[in-house]
Amino acid sequence: MKEIIEDCIIFSCRHCEEGEARRSNPKKEIASRTSFARNDESSILGINRFMVVITMIIFTFILCACQNQPLYKDTQVMMGTFVEVISPDKQAAAIVFNEIKRIEKLLSKYDLQSEISQLNKLGKLKVSPETFFILTKSILFYKQTNGAFDVTVGPLLDVWGFTDKKYILPDKSKIKQAMQFVGSDKIVLNEVDSVVKFNSPGVEIDLGAIAKGFAADCAVEKLKGAGVKSCLINAGGQIYCLGERFGKPWKVAIKNPRGQGNAGYLDLVNKAVATSGDYESYFEVAGKRYMHIFDPRTGFPAESGAICVTVIAPDGLTADALATAIMVIGKEKSDAIVKQYPEVIVKIIDKNE
Ligand code: ADP
Ligand code: MG
Repeated sequence: MKEIIEDCIIFSCRHCEEGEARRSNPKKEIASRTSFARNDESSILGINRFMVVITMIIFTFILCACQNQPLYKDTQVMMGTFVEVISPDKQAAAIVFNEIKRIEKLLSKYDLQSEISQLNKLGKLKVSPETFFILTKSILFYKQTNGAFDVTVGPLLDVWGFTDKKYILPDKSKIKQAMQFVGSDKIVLNEVDSVVKFNSPGVEIDLGAIAKGFAADCAVEKLKGAGVKSCLINAGGQIYCLGERFGKPWKVAIKNPRGQGNAGYLDLVNKAVATSGDYESYFEVAGKRYMHIFDPRTGFPAESGAICVTVIAPDGLTADALATAIMVIGKEKSDAIVKQYPEVIVKIIDKNE
């Protein structure tokens, strides 16, 4: 079902609690939500640090000046989140949804038939080029971040209750036990036959930190193949802006999450933007927050001081993975990794700011 939108403001929130899609006159606001869960004034992203306490929600903001040029918008639940597609091209949404569905069927650990589920179960599997590619990239990020980005964190999410949402502060012994299975050095990739295997039992791959960005990239390739020149994909806050919107950049706003209004705006053309934060999924015990992004080296939820990381990159996979990785690494130590990606722009909000 497509929707024609004229003269509109659109924003998408990352939390399902944020509210249903709505319209409000006279601005015709349309909001979509996700089920995920989930400087100074001259900063590169143009975010005034005094305006931003914590950036909790990234949302798209589209102000359509051209009354007679319609945009089509469609939203579907996929990859455990809301995927939103906005384009002047009617065929864009169907192309994006088909492709993201295909990728989800390969990569979701919640789909028992997926390649990742089969691999987790069997410990060895010949996989598709897409799965092989994302695992190769994941291991590269693991190495570049000295283990901060690690797609084998699944057992930690289990033991801390993030998988079944029965949050718990586990005993040290339980954490130690789970840690035996953590470490992307336990994944062996054979390029010759595309076989992936684990060199120790109990390893579980979870691509939650990278799959949405990758899925958006795959969808962009399909759009380009079909001749679509302008489209915004918002996969649960992982956004890709293809081309321009009526001759101007797509405007993506970063919303001030724990206050009112917007923290800043980004003008994006052929770029991805992703955000990770300590507010996506967390629980609190005695006033201390435990979030869903783990430091795989300690077995505890990351405590780098970063509370929100926004990354602009040429592709969604890089933006998604780096945003998660930098949440673990923290502001002080992030330079070394950011330097390896000259085309990437990073904005980190630290709890001490
Ligand atoms: P979102 O919840 O919006 O997808 P992220 O992209 O930051 O946010 O991904 C968080 C997810 O990534 C977690 O729910 C978990 O599945 C996985 N994860 C947690 N810690 C790490 C880590 N250190 N490295 C890689 N993946 C992680
Ligand atoms: Mg991520």
